[in-house]
Amino acid sequence: MSEINKEKDVNFRDRLSTVDDSGKRRWIYPKKPKGTWYNRRKIVAFLLILVLLVLPFLKYENEPLFLLNIFERKFIIFGMVFTPQDFHLFAIGMVALMIFIVLFTFVFGRFFCGWLCPQTIFMELVYRRIEYMIEGDAGSQKRLNEGPWDNSKIFKKVLKHLIFIALAFLFVSFGLAFIVGIEHIGETWVNPLANTTMFTVIFIISMLFYFIFAFFREQVCTNVCPYGRMQSVLLVDDSIVVHYDFYRGEKRASQKERNQKIKSGEAKEDDFGDCIDCNQCVAVCPTGIDIRNGTQLECVNCTACMDACDAVMEKIHKPKGLIRYASEYSIKNREPFKFSTRAKAYSGVLVLILGLLTIVALNRVKVEGIILRTPGMTYQYAEGDTTHIVNLYNYKLINKTSGDIHNVEFKVINIKEAVLKPIPAKIDLIPKFGRATGSIIVTIPVSAMKGYKTPIKFQVLADGKLVDEPETNFLGPH
Ligand code: SF4
Ligand code: SF4
Repeated sequence: MSEINKEKDVNFRDRLSTVDDSGKRRWIYPKKPKGTWYNRRKIVAFLLILVLLVLPFLKYENEPLFLLNIFERKFIIFGMVFTPQDFHLFAIGMVALMIFIVLFTFVFGRFFCGWLCPQTIFMELVYRRIEYMIEGDAGSQKRLNEGPWDNSKIFKKVLKHLIFIALAFLFVSFGLAFIVGIEHIGETWVNPLANTTMFTVIFIISMLFYFIFAFFREQVCTNVCPYGRMQSVLLVDDSIVVHYDFYRGEKRASQKERNQKIKSGEAKEDDFGDCIDCNQCVAVCPTGIDIRNGTQLECVNCTACMDACDAVMEKIHKPKGLIRYASEYSIKNREPFKFSTRAKAYSGVLVLILGLLTIVALNRVKVEGIILRTPGMTYQYAEGDTTHIVNLYNYKLINKTSGDIHNVEFKVINIKEAVLKPIPAKIDLIPKFGRATGSIIVTIPVSAMKGYKTPIKFQVLADGKLVDEPETNFLGPH
């Protein structure tokens, strides 16, 4: 909160903006935003919704380009197939994601909330826009809600809620397509009676989705979302957030008030800041807050107040940007915004994390061969031959690709005298996402051993091409 403004709104942190004095929910009627930032957000939202609606149909080698099938434990990310055996990647990914979220918020504040979060996109750029189309702007909506249930109101409400429900089914169906595949969703819609489980899941989630966007709305951001609740610890002075320039804006006064005071000689034009206290920034805010009170938990950085204030500044012939993307530091020190060394360092770490994760993902083996000595077995001498030792191994081969692999063979590359006898003798095929298991008997002369444990390096080949090189030990006598 600005120092100058401290005395004006001392109570704003005492309760949520969406709760009235009696503790009841205060319904927010935000004015329809318009302006450059809103237009930009419309474009981003359009592109993201396009991704939601198109990506489930895209295929690569006959498999979805993107699939997170937790039930069959099959994950495809841009054509790269991940199986439960890639759990280590998942763990690394999760750790990287946590670090990424923290650092990203340090530097870019709640950029994600305003521009990319599905809650904001669906609420502000889909559902709210439909509401404006059917019920009009904030004032008309309020009058409609408070007015009698006449034919016009019934028509508007029924139409709005039917569209809301239809959209909920649409978005939920496409969202679930990322988990179970678009084909399964298509089948469910064509024949719901034959797919009752899936249809029930779609129905329940769609109803929840509808309830959130029709009624619960900004409460998700202010009361439920854990990311929003963490802002107080994640944001620092350098974070870029939607900020009111209190030095430029204060002392605020309406045009009427300043005219009166100037006229009476009580004040000069220079005594006032650029804020004309028109409340337009508050009127458009979907979470009902006054950004002039400073950074608040409820602010989802939707930029609506930036547009509203820019329009006012244009009208009164003042420079735009009284509310703008800025850091607390740059406002306090009256400096133009620049990336601080800390922000640059954090951004560098972010790029590094993403780079590492990409390298690890790209270099993971596509066919994983796990060869381990059979549990409970040590070694044996070859039958009637104390110059050769035999070890028994179990193998598991996992085909993580979306294509079949054929003619799989094993080799030992670091002990040239090793003789292998796989059981079964031939692996003609491992289907896509499939696996093969079996045993291998390996015999090597005692002379080739390097003590009790000799490292042994296998090669797994498919159609003569190397697919993996698992390593283990070969046991012999002390
Ligand atoms: S829109 Fe701008 S001028 Fe109007 S109250 Fe908000 S900050 Fe002040
Ligand atoms: S204060 Fe501004 S940026 Fe924050 S939620 Fe309200 S309108 Fe959006």
